[in-house]
Amino acid sequence: MTKKIAILPGDGIGVEIVAEAVKVLECLRADFGLNIETETGLIGGAAYDAKGHPLPDETLQLAKESDSILLGAVGGYKWESLDISVRPEKGLLGLRAGLDLFANLRPAILYPQLADASTLKPEIVSGLDIMIVRELTGGIYFGQPRGVRTLDNGERQGYNTLVYKESEIDRIGRVAFDIAMKRGKRVCSVDKANVLECTELWRQVMEGVAKDYSDIELSHMYVDNAAMQLVKAPKQFDVMVTTNMFGDILSDCAAMLTGSIGMLPSASLDINSKGMYEPIHGSAPDIAGQGVANPLATILSVAMMLRYSLNEAAHADRIEKAVNNVLDQGLRTPDIYSDGMQKVGTAQMGDAVVTNLKKLVN
Ligand code: NAD
Repeated sequence: MTKKIAILPGDGIGVEIVAEAVKVLECLRADFGLNIETETGLIGGAAYDAKGHPLPDETLQLAKESDSILLGAVGGYKWESLDISVRPEKGLLGLRAGLDLFANLRPAILYPQLADASTLKPEIVSGLDIMIVRELTGGIYFGQPRGVRTLDNGERQGYNTLVYKESEIDRIGRVAFDIAMKRGKRVCSVDKANVLECTELWRQVMEGVAKDYSDIELSHMYVDNAAMQLVKAPKQFDVMVTTNMFGDILSDCAAMLTGSIGMLPSASLDINSKGMYEPIHGSAPDIAGQGVANPLATILSVAMMLRYSLNEAAHADRIEKAVNNVLDQGLRTPDIYSDGMQKVGTAQMGDAVVTNLKKLVN
């Protein structure tokens, strides 16, 4: 059966990097018989400009009727002064909430070819392979009440609310434990249970989930220590599971351990493993339009999509092999460049992946 993929490039470098990922999908369809169709939609600032809203109804509809979604990135200077309710990021949050994509999988893997690109010593990071499981549809990013109010003395006060129901904690816990079963069988749950009652509950529910997974070793860590440990001794972690905001911050920290934010894919899954796939980075307005963005995180997001949502692991393996071969050949976008390597732009990098894919026919 033909699988439908919604393509949502978004803003800034999103447009450039998604174009390269689409080349890879086209190659798999034409040369390897992958049975897919694609349809492109608007999201973020581009959608606001065209339709007056960062998540137009037709885009949400397209996402709902598709088997999977490939997203570039949203946001940029141009839309920063808009009311928060129509800022580009609202489009992304709306999509995650509208599709109930509650589980965000963010692998942080260090490619041996890029050990020098990390700012940490190679012995600290070489062989790094962490999976951060971030809760994505709850917590302080969605909690009510929220806003900015004026107090009796005329001073303004900003406020947000951190809320989690037991069921929300339980389901993200199970995703993390299931993934750990296929990996190193260790889960580290990250919270701030010494200060926040909400994450005290988080810790209790994780303990409950662990009772159903006798093979898994569960540990708990406060988020401030987790940030420190990620930089000090990151290889101690296998799977980390945490709240929406803590996961947002820790996964960017883990990303930098690997040398480049431009290398890391992510998946956001619903309860049936339908997913939205996107690089972990944003729209990088500082380099947008220059043709220098690294498209590999987006291309690797396609590999994750094939593996986790479309049941096409062999195609995912091909993409990952082609990316590995490109790195072996010394091709580097500026963000991962080091002396002696060949500096290439976004399109050259995408073309090189396709060329290497084609070599894998039979
Ligand atoms: P960013 O991830 O866009 O950029 C951070 C730094 O990393 C920049 O120096 C950028 O040039 C670099 N970078 C990012 N991706 C790269 C790539 N593929 N290749 C090479 N270099 C890359 O984060 P930011 O600057 O904090 O945010 C910029 C905009 O993106 C904001 O509007 C923000 O809201 C938005 N944003 C969107 C998403 C998303 O769509 N999922 C995520 C984060 C930020």
